[in-house]
Amino acid sequence: MGNTGYTSTPGVSAPLGSKTVQEKFARLGIADEFDLLLHLPLRYEDETHLYPINNVPENKTVQVEGIIIDSHVMYRPRRQLVCQVEDGTGVLFMRFLNFYGSQLKAYSVGKRVRLRGEARTGFFGVEMVHPKCRVVSEDEPLADALTPVYPSTAGLSSETIRKWVQHLLRQPGNKEKQQRYLSETLPDALLRRYQLHGFKDSLILLHQPPPDAPANLLQERSHPAWRRVKFDELLAQQLSMLFHYRQRREGSAPVLDAKNSLTKALLESLPFELTSAQKKAFSEISRDLSTAHPMQRLLQGDVGSGKTVVAALAVFQAIENDYQAALMAPTEILAEQHYLKFTAWLEPVLAPLGMTIAWLAGNQKKKQRETMLANIASGNAMLVVGTHALFQEQVEFDRLGLAIIDEQHRFGVHQRLALRGKGARARYLPHQLMMSATPIPRTLSMSYFADLDVSAIEGLPPGRTPVVTKLIADTRRDEITARIREACDGGTQAYWVCPLIEVSDALQLKTALETYESLSATFPDLKIGLVHGRLPPQEKSAVMKSFAQGEIQLLVATTVIEVGVDVPNASLMVVEHAERMGLAQLHQLRGRIGRGDAGGICILMYRKPLSTTAQERLKIIFEQTDGFEIARHDLRLRGPGEFLGERQSGVPMLRFADLEQDEDLLNAARVAATELMRDHPTAARKHVQRWLGRKSEYLRV
Ligand code: ADP
Ligand code: MG
Repeated sequence: MGNTGYTSTPGVSAPLGSKTVQEKFARLGIADEFDLLLHLPLRYEDETHLYPINNVPENKTVQVEGIIIDSHVMYRPRRQLVCQVEDGTGVLFMRFLNFYGSQLKAYSVGKRVRLRGEARTGFFGVEMVHPKCRVVSEDEPLADALTPVYPSTAGLSSETIRKWVQHLLRQPGNKEKQQRYLSETLPDALLRRYQLHGFKDSLILLHQPPPDAPANLLQERSHPAWRRVKFDELLAQQLSMLFHYRQRREGSAPVLDAKNSLTKALLESLPFELTSAQKKAFSEISRDLSTAHPMQRLLQGDVGSGKTVVAALAVFQAIENDYQAALMAPTEILAEQHYLKFTAWLEPVLAPLGMTIAWLAGNQKKKQRETMLANIASGNAMLVVGTHALFQEQVEFDRLGLAIIDEQHRFGVHQRLALRGKGARARYLPHQLMMSATPIPRTLSMSYFADLDVSAIEGLPPGRTPVVTKLIADTRRDEITARIREACDGGTQAYWVCPLIEVSDALQLKTALETYESLSATFPDLKIGLVHGRLPPQEKSAVMKSFAQGEIQLLVATTVIEVGVDVPNASLMVVEHAERMGLAQLHQLRGRIGRGDAGGICILMYRKPLSTTAQERLKIIFEQTDGFEIARHDLRLRGPGEFLGERQSGVPMLRFADLEQDEDLLNAARVAATELMRDHPTAARKHVQRWLGRKSEYLRV
């Protein structure tokens, strides 16, 4: 009502051009005009002046202009178009190894051309290979400001994109649109406090930098105009997380009070005392469980920090209140280990009451599965442990009160949500606990994980001797086998981790089999086991069991053992082709050893030549044992997209802000989000709508 200046909301914006053009834009993630305005330059080119040919610097992209004084196709050493360009100060060669007939015609003697490229001293003298070149008239003006270069795609060049943007920004007929897309969403007071430039001015400046705009600030993205865009982006992310968080807090969940009956019994039965970090984490969880709103907490702790027992306490608190719990793990090996552990802890309590623990996994026998499903639905099974199979549709709980996800970074947001939906039948949401051994650097947890509460277990339980890491080239394999022999003769057990082969599962299997055979030949008297992803579940667990019981001395394994496996007597690990593995993976693998009190040795075998990143990764893993430090480096090397893996599928990724460079903006956006939500809820909604409106899946979550 009232204001009918335009009918559309700020989030709604017109599509671009014809269907074919739209398809091309879509490839760049641009669905409409507003997206186009947010398609900001990748970098800027300086076409504001010309270099004299006799004075062009090397290894720098420059622009020169001159007359073509010679042009012909050469055939030796290969077919190419070679032209000489003269500008009164000197002569420069330009060469095209691939060229069209039209270029041959255009670049004829006497023409004036303007070229852009990197000059270097070549076979003929100073030359540019494949410069950007166009024929110009004598009075062709130079650009008076930096030229934006846009991310482009086949059939849609940066130049074309620039024209579209300019049209939108400059056409007087587009005034109304400009007003709509570029209107200010943020209150003045906020802009002043954080010294933010106006939204409209900022976007215009980034797309059309004025002649006096400081080039380096624009290139480095530290110009106030960039900072405004980044702030807006971070603010939208913070707001959407906050909406999400609040929404959840408004939902209801069963009150699971700390009755301290089962939990106390568990604590008394443990052969160790909880560390103070574990106690603190559990008290946070326990408090959340006893409120009527769904907990959504991340329990973070380095590999081996003892998260499982904390999770068990949470499970016990749920069961004390006669609610079911579910525990989901990313691999069958890990799920089974949990199953065995939890059974040992819980069975003595449940069995007398006629209650059970259920197990759900992918390749389970139909009959067994049906029994399990029935027990889960009737509420007879108080705990369900399993893999992804847990959130399939047929799984219906009677009264799910707590869902735990181990190694949560291995699951996508969608999978997590599917499990949460399992309480829906009862019109409440279960409490959710996620566990992760991949420590999340502070900036990341402030942004991508802002919708979660976090408990951290810092440090490891006492009595652990740190693992010693050795880097050894694979040419010294003999020394390594000698180590294995020594360790096994001394009564400890060892892992031999086969190289990761990403391209093919089959190849991975082949390598594992070969390694197994060659090690069996080297050590005819040792008991050697083999475990890999393709092994049927029963065999997998049989092998793991006999390794855990000490019957197998040397376990040849693919990276399936990466997560969670806990065999304290295994204290030597050899990782083949460590240079192919990621930091998080190496850290996880190494976390498998040094679990007992014997200390551990992790030998990272590598093959030369090493790429720079591989070299850097190995250096980091060699020098660092602290998971947080490793994660910080990992984030730096890979960037948040890769680092977060699956989580990105549900959370808006940052396109402009760089968490490391823009930490101050992140902090500001965090504070601003809370204030905006409290004092200007309409502006807050508008802002999220503008930034995430059409990608609003997240808003509905
Ligand atoms: P993670 O956090 O990697 O999941 P686990 O829960 O598997 O670690 O624990 C690693 C090992 O530490 C297990 O063998 C567990 O029994 C042991 N553990 C856990 N808490 C303590 C403690 N407070 N004192 C001694 N050992 C502990
Ligand atoms: Mg674990």
